[in-house]
Amino acid sequence: MNFLARQERVRRALLERELEALLITHLPNARYLTGFTGSAGMALVTPEATYLIVDSRYLHQARAHVAAHVFPAEDTLERAVSDLLRRERLRRVGFEAERMSVARYEVFVSELGETVTWVPTRGVVEDVRLVKDAEEQNAIRRAVELVAEAFSEILIEIRPGVRERDLAVELEYRLRRAGAERLAFETIVASGERAALPHGVASEKRIGYNEFVVIDVGAVVGGYCSDMTRTVYVGTPDVRAREVYQTVLEAQLRCEREMRAGMSARAIDALTRDPITARGYGEFYGHATGHGIGLEVHEAPRLSRHNDAVVPAGAVVTVEPGIYLPEWGGVRIEDVVIVRESGGEILTPTPKELLVI
Ligand code: ZN
Ligand code: ZN
Repeated sequence: MNFLARQERVRRALLERELEALLITHLPNARYLTGFTGSAGMALVTPEATYLIVDSRYLHQARAHVAAHVFPAEDTLERAVSDLLRRERLRRVGFEAERMSVARYEVFVSELGETVTWVPTRGVVEDVRLVKDAEEQNAIRRAVELVAEAFSEILIEIRPGVRERDLAVELEYRLRRAGAERLAFETIVASGERAALPHGVASEKRIGYNEFVVIDVGAVVGGYCSDMTRTVYVGTPDVRAREVYQTVLEAQLRCEREMRAGMSARAIDALTRDPITARGYGEFYGHATGHGIGLEVHEAPRLSRHNDAVVPAGAVVTVEPGIYLPEWGGVRIEDVVIVRESGGEILTPTPKELLVI
């Protein structure tokens, strides 16, 4: 992992913003830059050095594994950061505006007073994280494959009478046993009318006859997330069920085929939205086409009609259109895809043709 190259890119952003330092309070960003995997700490990047500020719990681990100068906090992390800023005479310090609590900010202001000018920044490290290197892509691929394998194993468990949460637990058990560090998010199993809830976390409901079952699950491997949705039908699908499924599937396939590096997020979103709207289901597709995925399950770029940002080659995103009809049910199909110059490279191996059980 080339942490130093990542830190250099943040340094360039410091120069552009005329900052003497950037304080990183968002742990996934600190991990990305230094390799630190603990649950409390901050990083500070200056033009000359990168520091990791941790308390005694993480001191040993950090000193052994982290690509940064480890600065120990004897008291609070905030006091240690303040001491470091004073020691290095850093006066114009950027902070992650979306990742700093008001309480923490107040502590810094009362510790350092007028000596430090705090400059809000947004997305500095997130922009560097946008393009995944080969090692990151491989970690995501492993997380994707783990989920695909577990999903294929639990297909035989899907039948009328089975509770949604029992399916979720079965999936999660297999994922953990196969090596997942944790789940990437709370597993969604939503059947029947509940399938119309885009985030229908598995409930006590039992799967019935003639309904869709939406299963959305992700695992974390080597710190990196996966995220997959498949929708199966239990019973005999009628014309409308087939039409809704086919509409989502065609939109999903088209997006993966036609997306290109250099397109805007909005243009990629349109690849799923336009065909669904053309079939009359636009108002039942309320969410974005997808999201970036990496150290966090939801990260940049958001593939939304409200995002004009250009999506670069090497970004890893989900493509997950859906149609949700209230009191009827819903369908979502989601893969993880690497954005390439020539199109989307689909990582998710699981078949997408309508599976009728
Ligand atoms: Zn998902
Ligand atoms: Zn997703």
